[in-house]
Amino acid sequence: MTEQRQPGPPADHHIGFFKLLEFMEQPGCPVCRMAQAEIIREMEHFLYESVNDPELRRRMRADGGLCPTHGGLLAEKSDALAGSILVGDWLAAARDRLKESGKAGTGAAGRGAASCHFCRIDRAAQRRIILQLADNLADDQLQARWSGPVMLCVTHLQTLGHLTRHRAIFQQVFAVHVEKKYQHILDQMALTIARHDYQRTGEPLGEERNAWRTALATLCGTTVQA
Ligand SMILES: [Zn+2]
Ligand SMILES: [Zn+2]
Repeated sequence: MTEQRQPGPPADHHIGFFKLLEFMEQPGCPVCRMAQAEIIREMEHFLYESVNDPELRRRMRADGGLCPTHGGLLAEKSDALAGSILVGDWLAAARDRLKESGKAGTGAAGRGAASCHFCRIDRAAQRRIILQLADNLADDQLQARWSGPVMLCVTHLQTLGHLTRHRAIFQQVFAVHVEKKYQHILDQMALTIARHDYQRTGEPLGEERNAWRTALATLCGTTVQA
């Protein structure tokens, strides 16, 4: 993969890159959204194929189950059988730890894992995707996408700046975000606040009413729906 670091045309035009281009045609952060899509696939695969993987089950038990975010995803995706097998396992382990500690209701035994199996997959996926974006920033097809609805979240815009060797192109991407895309959401939120006063006179709020959701996703990334 070292050839990706050389200047010139991107060498990394494999299926992951074309998938990234597809995500760059959609609103919001392509890194967050592509990683989130991967996590959902991983969760579905886990529920379908890996529930009986003893080593993975052991590690997840040691984690104390899942973090709140991925626990929520499990609740959404699992059926009663897989849910009972998995969560039963984690709760039984938590109960045993509570018994051992002799302090029921205290300590870590009753909480979801701070960083879980899917958190680790998520971090690795985000890292891989942002590196792909950083390496291919000079690609013509990729550059053409910035004029569309795509908008990097604050974290991934900063990370891209740290990782890419295409400094001049990054400065353009940065300017598009800070001066146009982020500014547009700020303007829309200011309009929402101003129109709230007009509401008494009957003027309805338009699309700008949802700008704060886009702003929240831009700040928090990942699963916040714009
Ligand atoms: Zn992001
Ligand atoms: Zn997690």
